[in-house]
Amino acid sequence: MTTRDKILSLLRGPVVARIRFTFPFNAGTVTIAPASFHRVADALETGKISLQVTNTFPPGVGGQYTSGTPNLLQVAPLIGRTEEGLLLHECTHAVFDLTKTQVTDNEDEAAAYVVDALYFRMTGLRRPRWDAEPHATAGGVADALLRDYQSGKTGLPAVNAAAWRALRTEIALHSVYRWGTSGVLGVLLGASTGHDG
Ligand SMILES: [Zn+2]
Repeated sequence: MTTRDKILSLLRGPVVARIRFTFPFNAGTVTIAPASFHRVADALETGKISLQVTNTFPPGVGGQYTSGTPNLLQVAPLIGRTEEGLLLHECTHAVFDLTKTQVTDNEDEAAAYVVDALYFRMTGLRRPRWDAEPHATAGGVADALLRDYQSGKTGLPAVNAAAWRALRTEIALHSVYRWGTSGVLGVLLGASTGHDG
């Protein structure tokens, strides 16, 4: 299976099918749901997003999404759950770009960290593997959402307000990614995570 096919399968697969939450923003409420990621898969297929699989990222960088014509998703090869989670992080940036959702950079980044933390939790990736910030704090938001999922509540759970605030603060404190001057929405510089089966 090519990396491209793996990415499409992941975006349309059973784990992503469980990811759903809302968060408040300036213009109301933002929803992240499986359809958000299906839209990214469609954009990859139609060429609205071009994909570049590359080994040229510095250590610890999982990927990069750049808004443009076409949009560009650059990812490291999908070796395991760590890389898959980081890919979904970048795809969350793509969601906001494709939908022209006017979230702030901080909200954009926070939502992306929640998505990767949800993926790590749902696939049972041990916490020491993703304890670098802001992933760890995003884990608190993910934990609360998973409790909602498991309680049998249907519908879209909102992020826990306190956990979300803590995550946004953590992101504001971090300077590990750079912002927007060239349309770069976010460059993820997590801890080097090694390989994962
Ligand atoms: Zn990011």
